[in-house]
Amino acid sequence: MEMPQLGFGVWQVPDDEAERAVTTALQAGYRSIDTAAVYGNEEGTGRAIAACGLPREELFVTTKLWNADQGYDATLRAFDASLDKLGLDHVDLYLIHWPLPSRNLYVETYRAFEKIHADGRARAIGVSNFLPEHLDRLTEETSVIPAVNQIELHPHLQQRASREKHAELGIATEAWSPLGQGKGLLEVPAIVAIAQKHGRTPAQIVLRWHVQQGNVAIPKSVTPSRIEENIDVFSFELDAEDLGAISALNENRRLGPDPATFDVA
Ligand code: NAD
Repeated sequence: MEMPQLGFGVWQVPDDEAERAVTTALQAGYRSIDTAAVYGNEEGTGRAIAACGLPREELFVTTKLWNADQGYDATLRAFDASLDKLGLDHVDLYLIHWPLPSRNLYVETYRAFEKIHADGRARAIGVSNFLPEHLDRLTEETSVIPAVNQIELHPHLQQRASREKHAELGIATEAWSPLGQGKGLLEVPAIVAIAQKHGRTPAQIVLRWHVQQGNVAIPKSVTPSRIEENIDVFSFELDAEDLGAISALNENRRLGPDPATFDVA
């Protein structure tokens, strides 16, 4: 199965705003929506999907299992609750939100994911924030290769080791905070210069970089003009010089938590 390379993320969008934001995104041409149980907006997202008039098979809906619900039975219950809130009978992709290595439940949790997948209630299953060592263990101890690992990835955190591991195992790399949360990154002189050269915005340059890297990217915005701008990245191309300049921006600097130690449930 295929996943759109550019999707719409709804982290930090309150439930009562999610319906409008997702509706705007669907009207702008997005067909992939990334939510999570912990975002508290599966209902608003579901309302937009129900009202949009697009055939379900044209949409790609992702949600994620929250940390507190890891474990075999808890996962099955949490998945039912997510489907209920979304108002759907299946999702396209279900992800384990964080590995929580200190709790040592992600293999058991993933076995419940395999059941959900076998039952056809998630067309694909995968993980988020898994480090290469977690992927090695998971693929050794379970049978369905995760379709996706959704990780923090932007020009300041290019994640070369993870991308190599994904290529080795046949896992798609999905970038969260693809714009570096809009902070600082979009004002970096090298990015601004490339934007001026192409007559594009810095956000479009960064998203085009993701596309040419082969990443899936899920930028978030609640501003209609930015929602439109962020998907308009398929009619120009960065050249080798642009790609080299962006490549040089890597600082291995995270904005979010370190998956090796993050254990908030
Ligand atoms: P992002 O990198 O998408 O940045 C979003 C912010 O950038 C916006 O709030 C806005 O301030 C700014 N912005 C957006 N478009 C812009 C534009 N065209 N011009 C200027 N500024 C612009 O950050 P994010 O929301 O953290 O990440 C995107 C999605 O990734 C989330 O909504 C969520 O779906 C997912 N995510 C997943 C995890 C995870 O643990 N799996 C963690 C964080 C985010």
